[in-house]
Amino acid sequence: MSGDALSQDPAELRRRIDSTRAHPARVYDVFLGGKDNYPVDRAAAAAALAANPRGYLDVRHNRDFLRRAVNELAGQEGIRQFLDIGTGLPTAENVHQIAQRIIPDARVVYVDNDPVVLAHARALLTSGPEGRTDYIDADFKNPAQILEQAAKTLDFDQPIALCLVAILHFVEDEEAYPIVRELVRALPSGSRLVLSHLTEDLNPENIRAVQRTYTERGFTFVLRTRADVERFFTENSLRLVEPGVVPVHHWRADNDAPVPEQPEESYLGGLDDIEK
Ligand code: SAH
Repeated sequence: MSGDALSQDPAELRRRIDSTRAHPARVYDVFLGGKDNYPVDRAAAAAALAANPRGYLDVRHNRDFLRRAVNELAGQEGIRQFLDIGTGLPTAENVHQIAQRIIPDARVVYVDNDPVVLAHARALLTSGPEGRTDYIDADFKNPAQILEQAAKTLDFDQPIALCLVAILHFVEDEEAYPIVRELVRALPSGSRLVLSHLTEDLNPENIRAVQRTYTERGFTFVLRTRADVERFFTENSLRLVEPGVVPVHHWRADNDAPVPEQPEESYLGGLDDIEK
């Protein structure tokens, strides 16, 4: 395990954490039933839930999509390295725990720009003895820094799964598309992109109302259609694997159990192969 980011001065870290403003990572934590949040975050979550009462379920479906994707990549495809940008607060099942259960020497690099996540990052650095994890305190908008620091832990000559799960709605088009391209270009053949995104396709009225609750609090919050989400894959000449970009709970549901139709779902997810 490593974690240069953890050597940050605690007083400086406390200064960076603003408990008077909602933080997206903490609001997401409220939805997951976590305890690492403040009254402002709970108020933001309550406003979002008033707009979309299914919010709790949607977020759990999204997190479950991440779990299934990592399980499948480690278990079926032998992917041993993961770069998880927009990690969120630690939960019971983080990417390294899922991957290392299958591949004990799997390596995982976590990246988030929220000081709240940094403050809890120790829980992400609990790699098993054969594997490695690291945490990078960086912004998605600084891909050069992410790639340089990730290379200390990950071997960029071996396949890497880039996980961009429920982060891109915080980034405007002008930056989101070019940065995903830059990150994908840095990965070797055989790598994968795992992506989920809030959409306005499925439950537009409620989700646009959720968007207003976020923009009122000063967050960028971009809803994208299925075509917009597919563009992250297609414009990089990636081969989108079955079943393509679909509501997250439909993406390779466990045990082929029938999935009830839930048109009001709000996340879309997909996974692709990077072949060069
Ligand atoms: N990927 C996790 C958490 C999603 S919550 C999951 O799907 O369960 C979104 C996370 O993205 C938050 O932790 C937030 O702090 C982070 N985030 C948002 N914008 C970011 C940016 N520009 N750079 C890095 N992280 C960002």
